[in-house]
Amino acid sequence: MTNAEYLKAQRNEPWREELRKSMKNKERTDIPRVKMPELNPDIRSRNYEEVNLGLSLDQALLESKRCLDCPDPQCVTGCPVEINIPKFIKCIEKNNLSEAAKTLKENSALPAVCGRVCPQEKQCESKCIHLKMKKEPVAIGYLERFAADYERESGSVSVPESAKSNGIKIAVVGSGPAGLSFAGEMAKSGYDVTVYEALHEIGGVLKYGIPEFRLPNEIVDVEIDMLRKMGVKFITNCIVGKTISYEDLHQEGYKGIFVASGAGLPNFMNIPGENLSGVLSSNEYLTRVNLMAANKKESDTPVFFGKKVAVIGGGNTAMDSVRTARRLGAEKAMIIYRRSEEEMPARVEEIKHAKEEGVIFMNLHNPIQYIGDEKGRIKQMILQKMELGEPDASGRRRPVEIRGATETMDVDMVVVAIGVSPNPLIPSAFEGLNVSKWGTITVNQDTLQTDLPDVFAGGDIVRGGATVILAMGDGRKAAAAMHEKLLN
Ligand code: FAD
Ligand code: SF4
Repeated sequence: MTNAEYLKAQRNEPWREELRKSMKNKERTDIPRVKMPELNPDIRSRNYEEVNLGLSLDQALLESKRCLDCPDPQCVTGCPVEINIPKFIKCIEKNNLSEAAKTLKENSALPAVCGRVCPQEKQCESKCIHLKMKKEPVAIGYLERFAADYERESGSVSVPESAKSNGIKIAVVGSGPAGLSFAGEMAKSGYDVTVYEALHEIGGVLKYGIPEFRLPNEIVDVEIDMLRKMGVKFITNCIVGKTISYEDLHQEGYKGIFVASGAGLPNFMNIPGENLSGVLSSNEYLTRVNLMAANKKESDTPVFFGKKVAVIGGGNTAMDSVRTARRLGAEKAMIIYRRSEEEMPARVEEIKHAKEEGVIFMNLHNPIQYIGDEKGRIKQMILQKMELGEPDASGRRRPVEIRGATETMDVDMVVVAIGVSPNPLIPSAFEGLNVSKWGTITVNQDTLQTDLPDVFAGGDIVRGGATVILAMGDGRKAAAAMHEKLLN
């Protein structure tokens, strides 16, 4: 049965027909979209509490009524893991919240995570039929978070059913969203799955990159525990390619390997002064704060608490870094971005939250030099003013220098957040694995199989820096293809 046929069959269940008849579409579309309750910006910009508070039951029940339970739901095609969106929303409308959570988990190993960090405005919500009627889309992400949180807080978390164990051993390299999603799918199909993680914490960017004020670690841990309950094993502090080799994995009897090692290598601009003390990558800054408690003054290795902090870049990583700097006491926390706000890759919500928290946006500016004091510590930066030219290959308008227009500014810390590259360790340690000119692993687009027949790969190591849900979609796709290969 195709996914479309499956969705249709479930849509015809009597309870859903009854629910659809209970209200006219016009009444449903007339309900205004719910607003996410948030912490007060003056308070939250000085602490690590989660900013979005989540919907109340009443808010969720009302928002769920906005969904029209479309016969051909385009929102599902906009979701890389193809969650049965209308079904889970209709379960909420029926106040069957455990069934809503169960529906989410049929396709997603991390619903409470995705409900918080996925760019729904560019995916499922961007396809919602409400937009065609010039209305705001159904708040699919908020409802996803609500259903997952409700189940967790109720204390009766359902574990997805798994097939009988087939005893076949599968290894996963990396415990980010791609690795976790793959592990969950393979465990459901009865495989004996072990995830190897280089760091001491499981979760990849979900733990070391995204700060707790956006995604609390305990939320990630509950979803990881679910995988443990499904039989997935985790080995931390183990670098595949160093601690354990490709050959070792074979000797241990693994019949398939999924590489999900991410893109954790920070990019720099290679401009004068980038080696000064006080200039660091967003990866280092966020990892030290998120995983090593470097935001606490009593930490053995605290980060410098800058007062005038410039963060270079316009993506989610830049927003996370600048909002962290603000929470660590920066009086002047600035985003320096070479294009305009319209071209910023960060989620709209992150930009809004950063502004509310007092972050200063210096768009159409680009650093060209950092200047240090006599001790080699950053004290100033020179910014080139920019304007927008014609669109480039990405479709965004190209930033062009305004000749002679520069500005010098005092700073005591600079965080560089201009993108990441794949870590070259796995490609060099797995002989025969081919990589692109950007260092990403080359795969068959349909199966995500690499040039080594037993190795599949997905997530940022294949795409370069992308998103949580695309990484998870890759995990699902690779699991289906590896299962198919191992069966035949
Ligand atoms: P990762 O999450 O990077 O996980 C890879 C894991 O592999 C890591 O834990 C790493 O330690 C481990 N590893 C690497 N090499 C080895 C090895 N040799 N042996 C063992 N383990 C290894 N996306 C969104 O959708 N929404 C957001 O709001 C968002 N915000 C972000 C904020 C920040 C600060 C960053 C950095 C990224 C953000 N992203 C966001 C992007 C998203 O997090 C990534 O696209 C996603 O995590 C990629 O998943 P992955 O599983 O491929 O890799
Ligand atoms: Fe509901 Fe919008 Fe999906 Fe239609 S497109 S099923 S209204 S969420």
